Amino acid sequence: MTVKDLVKPPVLLSEEALQRRVRELGQEITAHYQDHDGQLVVVAILKGSFLFAADLIRAVDLDLAVEFLGLRSYGAGTESSGVVQITYDLTTPVTDRDVLIVEDIVDTGLSMRYLLENLATRHPRSVKLCSLLHKPARTRAAVPIDFLGFTIEDRFVVGYGLDYAERYRNLPYLGVLGE
Ligand code: 5GP
Repeated sequence: MTVKDLVKPPVLLSEEALQRRVRELGQEITAHYQDHDGQLVVVAILKGSFLFAADLIRAVDLDLAVEFLGLRSYGAGTESSGVVQITYDLTTPVTDRDVLIVEDIVDTGLSMRYLLENLATRHPRSVKLCSLLHKPARTRAAVPIDFLGFTIEDRFVVGYGLDYAERYRNLPYLGVLGE
């Protein structure tokens, strides 16, 4: 297959809309942590949040460190089973530190519920969640999203870091598959 065979998915959120909202989220996060002392640990969840996290941290005017954490959710097709594995872990302890998780999308919520429970055992000072997207129609575990980019309908989205079988991560906008 060459790039010419790849059909461009229709636009759900344009590059401009994404960039504008990411800047606003950066300002919200900056305001929230303004008076906290110590360094914020931003934990970007791999792989889907890598572009969002890269743009977001440039809109955050705070002393921060960046960590990555890989999660794999097992399930049939696109359905999450709730069985989650950490495929790449933090390289530093987060005990007594403020942690901000940066996720691409909260779908069933099962991955984030697992991660929040796991991080709690490491005794951080605080844990907050920033997600670019939320699909409330598919919630199976309600997790609090402290900073949210967009609420979307139950559609499979790709682009801006999100993939389908590793494709489309490099689209600068968010598109919809299968329509
Ligand atoms: P959850 O555990 O909340 O069901 O699953 C979250 C993960 O499933 C996300 O981090 C993402 O990797 C994947 N996911 C859920 N919905 C979508 C979607 O519409 N598009 C893509 N590309 N991935 C999705």
